[in-house]
Amino acid sequence: MTVRDILIHPDQRLQIKARPVVDFDRHLGALAEDLLDTLYASGPAIGLCAPQIGTLQQVLVMDLSKERDSPEFYVNPRLIMRTRPCFAEERCLSVPGVTANVWRSTLVQVRAQDLDGKLFTRQLENMHAVCLQHEMDHFEGKTIARKVSIFTRLAEALKAG
Ligand code: ZN
Repeated sequence: MTVRDILIHPDQRLQIKARPVVDFDRHLGALAEDLLDTLYASGPAIGLCAPQIGTLQQVLVMDLSKERDSPEFYVNPRLIMRTRPCFAEERCLSVPGVTANVWRSTLVQVRAQDLDGKLFTRQLENMHAVCLQHEMDHFEGKTIARKVSIFTRLAEALKAG
């Protein structure tokens, strides 16, 4: 069990695209365990992905359960359907102290592999769908830091004096 350090914006590694996983071996298993330990050690966060702990691979974990006992792993996820767009309020462990309004789909279908490489398709709604899209943005080297509106920046600048 290893709680890894979470990369913080503007760390350059958060802006690099993540590679698809090719080998479904014990290294992937160890990465998945580290992701889960790090997520659970991070307070109430509901999602974390491998690039945030410095491993540039397309692996993410989400757990939206109150008990924090229902982790879901997605390897090499692709959205095959997205609908019901809406503004979602998002935070990110890699961009502390920031809340961003992001245009997201609140109903998606995702095709991904599990930790054994088995393909599956799942339909996700609301927070679940939003969290998945947030983590998938990390795979493209994108964080919510660039989505913070000019108004938020202005308000913070005024607050800071
Ligand atoms: Zn994030």
